[in-house]
Amino acid sequence: MTGPSLLSIRNYSCHALALTTFFNHPGDERTQPVIPASDLSWALLVGGILRPGSANRLEWLAHCGHRKDLGLTRKFGDDLLAYFTERVDPEVIRHRSADTLNLAKCNKVFEEAAFIGLAIDGTGAGNTTKTPCPLCHPIKDSKDKVTGFNHYLVMVSVVGAGITLPFDVEPCPSGDSEYAAGQRLLLRAVNHLGPRFANYVVADAKFATAPFLHCSVQVGLPISARLKQNLPELAAAVETRFSQQPPTDTFLHGEDRIEVWDAADFDPWEALDWSTVRAMRYRQHKKNGTIIQAEWLTNFSIAKLPTRSFFKLAKSRWEIENQGFNDAKNLYGLEHIQHHHPNSMLVNWLFLLLALIVKRLYRIRYLHRGSHPVITAMQLKDTLWLSLRLAGADSS
Ligand SMILES: [Zn+2]
Repeated sequence: MTGPSLLSIRNYSCHALALTTFFNHPGDERTQPVIPASDLSWALLVGGILRPGSANRLEWLAHCGHRKDLGLTRKFGDDLLAYFTERVDPEVIRHRSADTLNLAKCNKVFEEAAFIGLAIDGTGAGNTTKTPCPLCHPIKDSKDKVTGFNHYLVMVSVVGAGITLPFDVEPCPSGDSEYAAGQRLLLRAVNHLGPRFANYVVADAKFATAPFLHCSVQVGLPISARLKQNLPELAAAVETRFSQQPPTDTFLHGEDRIEVWDAADFDPWEALDWSTVRAMRYRQHKKNGTIIQAEWLTNFSIAKLPTRSFFKLAKSRWEIENQGFNDAKNLYGLEHIQHHHPNSMLVNWLFLLLALIVKRLYRIRYLHRGSHPVITAMQLKDTLWLSLRLAGADSS
């Protein structure tokens, strides 16, 4: 087997993931393109895969690198990527990412998972002191003086399925709430994926609002959300009951001892149209003496989701934090603004997620066939960089 290379990833993308049509027609709305969309869409994916950190470095690669190694037919400037991303229809990318996940499901990528989850959470990205765009939120100091701007987005990711695949984002304009953006995102995600792709939704406490929980019911998915003090009546009822009872179950989770309390007959708060609310408390005793306690709510019945499965489902929410936001920010440059324009930022975020999907499927599922071990994300990135040659350096 030849070693990992960008060309190998491009072949895998085109054949195993059926991305050829998308590369050629990524929703490009330029009227008279000189550089073909296939070069620019692949370049944006290469940007996500190689993580050069900026459009300038991507442009440098396109100029100085051996373009055959990069999978590009033409060189271009970073101003063209800015022009291009302003004019790409984000819906086309979103559909393609969802279709790629469905293809992965058909190919048994999630075979070991009993339940496939959709985790939703929000974050800030793209801090700037430049002229604000329509998506900018002002950052104010203690004297209410605007010192800069930030952007907020809500992300959705496949979780609980052995491989974490974030696949769509919804920007939150100033004045918008994360849970309202989360509703738009959830409706779209299930619409694009189809109603039978996922089995549950999992979210943090800020999404534990009646409108968001109703939205999940509307798309036909049971939901579990973290229970905190933003729901004071339910939180108080759970504390009163569980603090006076022995745990429903105790078991080992790795080396940690877990105590769990679980009851399905709590009263909903006034705005929530559920007949009852199921709540769970777990207390995780770590070997070093640390104790982690958290409460969760759900509309899953105990018959469909036994207590230990509820615990695992709650833990799957961490995937969007760790393999979603942390990796996208620290490894893939989510926080860096390539071009400060609302559509351009959105298109760059969506290409970044598609690159992350392609690269994870390639690394974890394609390279890991037969006796080949799974290589780390960093090993793959280094191997890809080492496989590149400078133009003219190869005299053969
Ligand atoms: Zn902005």
